[in-house]
Parts: sequence; C-alpha cells; structure tokens
Amino acid sequence: MKIDVLSLFPSMFDGVFGESILKKAQEKNAVELNVVNFREYSTNKHQNVDDYPYGGGAGMVLTPQPIFDAVEKLTETAKKPRVVLLCPQGERYTQAKAEELAAEEHLIFICGHYEGYDERIREQLVTDEISIGDYVLTGGELGAMVVIDSVVRLLPDVLGNNHSAVQDSHSTGLLEHPHYTRPADFRGLTVPEVLMSGNHKKIEQWRQKESLKRTLLRRPDMLEKMELTEEQKKLVAQLKEENQLS
Ligand code: SAM
Repeated sequence: MKIDVLSLFPSMFDGVFGESILKKAQEKNAVELNVVNFREYSTNKHQNVDDYPYGGGAGMVLTPQPIFDAVEKLTETAKKPRVVLLCPQGERYTQAKAEELAAEEHLIFICGHYEGYDERIREQLVTDEISIGDYVLTGGELGAMVVIDSVVRLLPDVLGNNHSAVQDSHSTGLLEHPHYTRPADFRGLTVPEVLMSGNHKKIEQWRQKESLKRTLLRRPDMLEKMELTEEQKKLVAQLKEENQLS
C-alpha cells in the first residue's frame, strides 16, 4: 500500500511514523508512507496556502490551487486512489471503515488547518470525508495519524504472531475479553482459575462470555447492532439476569 499525506506540518508525523508498528510495516515494505508539505505546490509568490473567506467572517480558508496541484501530481501515474479529507463534518470513523481502507492500494490524506477548506476541494478531489470524533482539532494531522495507524496494522504480515487484529475490540462487533498475565497472585488479586486450567474449550467459553459481558455493560449499543447466535443470545440473557439488567 502507498499512503501520501498532504500536510502543512510534516514533521508532526516523524515520531508516529518512525516508531512501533508503523516503522516495522515500512521496513517490511508493507506500506510506503510519504508526507508532502502542500505549501511547496503553492504558485503564490509568498507560497501562501490560505486566504480570507468570501463573505467575511473569522479565520482563514485553505485555497484550492496547492491542494489540487499536489493531488494531481501524486496521481499522475497512479490508478485512482481514495482521497480522504480529515474533517469534523465527515462520517465518524469506525473499525469497519479501517477494514475498507486497508483493502486499497493507494490512499491520499488531506489534513486541513485554520477555518477549513475551500468547498471545491471537497467537491472535486475527495472520495471520503472522515471525522475521528465529535470534537474539533486544530488540524487534520492527528486524525490522519489515527486513521493510518488503524489501517496499516490490518495489512497482511504487519502484526507479528504476538498480536492479532482479528480478536480486537470492534473487529468482531464485540469488545474484547479481559487479559491477565503473570503473576497469578498480585497483592492478593488473583487470576481467574479457568485461564490457568489448560482447558482450551473452557477458556474459549470464558472469553466469549466475558466479551459479551463487557460489551453489554459498556456498549449495549454495539450488541443491538449485532446478529447474535443462539448460544450468544442465551449468554446475554444469563448475563442480564446476573447483572440485574432488563
Ligand atoms: N471550521 C471547521 C468546522 O467547523 O467544521 C473546523 C476546522 S478545524 C479547526 C481545522 C481542521 O482540523 C479541519 O479542517 C480538519 O482537517 C481537522 N479536524 C478538526 N476536527 C477534526 C475531527 N474531529 N476529525 C478529523 N479532522 C478534524
């Protein structure tokens, strides 16, 4: 996969792209990450990328020219990529969207700043508008990092054997079960017996139930959207009784 990021603050990506899974994914050639300062594409003699809004009002607006030229340059030879605009007005980001983007070969992310973008950028260049939550950030960079991290970890061979995206919260539609590691007794706080029993069937049953319980107690909205198996329905009914939920 190739990912291009258009940003006015490229050095913000140095730390995030240079550590952990994102670093390893580049070393394994699973992804090529390229950050472009779109100011370099400005044809304005002062290399301006923003201007006052027509109609007046507070804040500056990103002009279309540098962003159009940068995207056109990056797509000159490439097949049509997905062009993602980070924006608090976009669709709210989910694991399902991460999975959808992970199937692409080329993604371009546009990071806004200031008051926002000239509307023609949105209308002509962009295929997806993504918001990482219902709050307003100063710029799109942190949003792009969130989306890129969650996409790249889904690419084949990026996560080692010690990690698995398959069981992660949201991948299955449920929150993941609790985890425990050594010691078995920490300050009198003990690990559930079943996890040390070596009985894989029982361990799996315990994990399934805990996963349902966690989702029921923390995110009942997720359970409502899921098609539960008969076995899961029974477990949910049992959990509701145990936790005195209606
Ligand atoms: N005036 C804009 C509005 O009300 O929709 C907000 C502009 S915000 C200060 C500047 C930039 O930060 C946006 O263009 C976008 O790139 C990014 N941004 C802010 N909040 C975001 C969010 N929740 N998700 C993704 N990007 C966000």
